[in-house]
Amino acid sequence: MRIAVLGGDGYCGWATALYLSRKGHTVAIVDSFARRLWDEQLGVRTLTPIRTLAERLSVWKEITGNDIEVFAGDVTEHEFLAATIEAFGREAVVHFAEQRSAPYSMIDREHAVFTQVNNVVGTLNLLFALRELAPECHLIKLGTMGEYGTPNIDIEEGYIAIEHNGRKDVLPFPKQPGSFYHLSKVHDSHNMMFACKVWGLRATDLNQGVVYGTMTDEAALDEALINRFDYDEIFGTVLNRFCVQAAIGHELTVYGKGGQTRGFLDIRDTVRCIEIACLNPAKPGECRVFNQFTEQFSVIEIAQMVKAAASKMGLKAEIAYLPDPRVEAEEHYYNAKNSKLIHLGLQPHLLSDSLLDSLMNIAVKYRERIDASLIPPQVNWRNPCNDRRVEEGVAVGVGAAASGAGFEREAVPAGKSKGNGNGNGAPHRANGSRKKQAASQKA
Ligand code: NAD
Repeated sequence: MRIAVLGGDGYCGWATALYLSRKGHTVAIVDSFARRLWDEQLGVRTLTPIRTLAERLSVWKEITGNDIEVFAGDVTEHEFLAATIEAFGREAVVHFAEQRSAPYSMIDREHAVFTQVNNVVGTLNLLFALRELAPECHLIKLGTMGEYGTPNIDIEEGYIAIEHNGRKDVLPFPKQPGSFYHLSKVHDSHNMMFACKVWGLRATDLNQGVVYGTMTDEAALDEALINRFDYDEIFGTVLNRFCVQAAIGHELTVYGKGGQTRGFLDIRDTVRCIEIACLNPAKPGECRVFNQFTEQFSVIEIAQMVKAAASKMGLKAEIAYLPDPRVEAEEHYYNAKNSKLIHLGLQPHLLSDSLLDSLMNIAVKYRERIDASLIPPQVNWRNPCNDRRVEEGVAVGVGAAASGAGFEREAVPAGKSKGNGNGNGAPHRANGSRKKQAASQKA
């Protein structure tokens, strides 16, 4: 199957692109490398030393013989995206290419606006590109369990049967998102449902839980293929953060009472869920929703598990209860359904002691790269204000392609890259070979 992975240079996208490539699919990565720029702008970096995309793909080719094609550009630029879909995407498009941090979206007005424009416009462009150029193509879009919030009833998979004043209907499950980022995902979901209804597109909205882990079978093949491991207050997710904190003897930063309960999954299950969705496409006109997580934990349960795993390694990890910088229920009912992917064949990797040990080992292995100043929460939901202004004159989030990850620097003349990497709206297509001038503009 030909599968375009939008956001394939990121955490979930990189693992997915390699997994699908190894499974024999023809894969292309579409990315603006925006995330690498946001890291630079915020002064954060992944615990693990990730390579440029060009290096990563070159090593992948050497090890497996598989090519992964690259389209370097910004999905908020419609001409670039449409040309990419026309050139490559006919069967399945997996859309990870969004700004995915709730704290990022709550830094200040600029970051909230940027997040919603980046995410909502990118998805809208994709819907229009599919309608115009590939209406039969299956869209697999990453949403989040955070779209639902924490209602005091069971959370269904996307839709709920309701009886009201003697009449019945099946309606979208009510959404109570907890940040401007989560709101962007709700807007995406509504746009997708509408596009499927009016244009007959086929889509799967994967409401994903919090992903943990960094190793997949493919990433483990070579150090050059290593995936991100974010632990900072903006992009770090809770389990990864706690492992890093334990590795340097930092207190485990539980926000509020720690009763916040969420769905979690191993990165190895993320990649399998995407494959399952690809192999079992939605019907024309259908916008189906799968809740993509395998287990539920509260924050305090996670902290206790990490504390125990650290203690086995002789590391002391105390739990600190910080004032919650977010506006959220600190204790609540939570019971979300997640049976649809299991019925289609998902066999979950549960958070066993051995996996926790391996996460702790990664945190300890790269301990020298940990910057403890990136750990404490600085973004406060109640008072969005930005003490970490990026360089004067640099707009939030933009200019991503100029930052690059190997491809633009090699192939695009300076000054020509605005967003899509070649300045004319056509996709900048590259083949990922080690050669300096690997990137070529074919489209
Ligand atoms: P990430 O930041 O590691 O990767 C996102 C990638 O998309 C980056 O490589 C970035 O450069 C690219 N991108 C962003 N905007 C783009 C644009 N306009 N044009 C082209 N490329 C663009 O994020 P991730 O953790 O891999 O998350 C991927 C998706 O999964 C997101 O949509 C996120 O909301 C969703 N998700 C992630 C988690 C998690 O725990 N990581 C949980 C639930 C949902």
